[in-house]
Amino acid sequence: MATVSVLKATYSDLKIDALPAPFGGMEPFVKKNEKVLLKVNLLSAKKGPEKAVTTHPEFVRAVVRAVRKAGGEPYIGDSPAGAFSKRHLTKAYERSGLMDMADEEGIPLNFNTASKKLDIPEGKRLQRSPICEFALRADTVIALPKLKTHSMQYLTLACKIMYGVVPGLTKAKYHAQFPRKVHFADMMLDILTIVKPRLYIMDGILAMQGQGPGSGDPVNLDLVLASTDPVAMDIAVCRILGIEPVGIPALKMAKVRGLWPERIDYPFQAPGGVAYRGFRLPNTADHLLTGKKPPRKSPVITDKCTACGECERICPKEAVKVDGSMAAVTYARCIRCFCCHEVCPEDAIVLRSVKFH
Ligand code: SF4
Ligand code: SF4
Repeated sequence: MATVSVLKATYSDLKIDALPAPFGGMEPFVKKNEKVLLKVNLLSAKKGPEKAVTTHPEFVRAVVRAVRKAGGEPYIGDSPAGAFSKRHLTKAYERSGLMDMADEEGIPLNFNTASKKLDIPEGKRLQRSPICEFALRADTVIALPKLKTHSMQYLTLACKIMYGVVPGLTKAKYHAQFPRKVHFADMMLDILTIVKPRLYIMDGILAMQGQGPGSGDPVNLDLVLASTDPVAMDIAVCRILGIEPVGIPALKMAKVRGLWPERIDYPFQAPGGVAYRGFRLPNTADHLLTGKKPPRKSPVITDKCTACGECERICPKEAVKVDGSMAAVTYARCIRCFCCHEVCPEDAIVLRSVKFH
């Protein structure tokens, strides 16, 4: 049986101390003087915390304090989308508000961009992968996912958070290697077998609906969740939002792997007690609400494009190129991974049904 703590909260009343109480508090997860990686969701240097793209700095601050109280030595890390460089990380930390918070709390931010190739003994899709050193030097990992939508995987929650320990552009390369949603999701579950957080604490206070993970709309759900089981946590979120869990590729593949808990215990709020109806999924997931197979969506460049080239740099298939003052997509090459949509700093890419030859 799995346990998921669910509480109503706000950024000024975070309830981070109460959340792990059903597991015996923070102490079972953090030993004295242990280095504790707080794996945040940093996505990219696109937007500030009010846009719900990244784990909120006040949420991270509360976890930092709780970990220190338990005797641990926390540090913050993630490999955001795009190039994994010190310059890119600095921008992302600044934009997300984590830089200021880290200065105030005196907590280290990771700037080490080295990685190491590791075998994945339990891998079903990947037998070996580079993994960021910042994750490997931790004695323990606490994952802090943001509750968000995702245009390719529909939701990005606890099962997806550790994909951020794959360095920079290797993540885009895996999109080319695993273009099918379920295969990609299965590969993410492989990564989760080698860097396993002891605890997941989810920021669902200001969540993101619509065209996530970078261009959706903030929505106040006022929820925080904690669990040791990422599958149970993601099932709980689906139940709160009224979404059939097996429709989410990561949960579907978790079920195939026999990872679904037989029962979930909710010591505080049950999903029904905090149900939120009307949550908007990305338009690529219309079928989860209508039951009808939707027309295939493709990235379409709009006139907000400033020809910055970010989409071209991340595209794993060389399907989008800047041509003069705008980017242009060659649809015959496009695998609809939506990495371009994720990183576009201008929200200039929309996902639509496109007729092409
Ligand atoms: S579509 Fe976006 S990412 Fe691509 S060049 Fe234009 S502004 Fe940059
Ligand atoms: S154009 Fe965009 S959606 Fe298509 S393959 Fe490239 S990054 Fe992926």
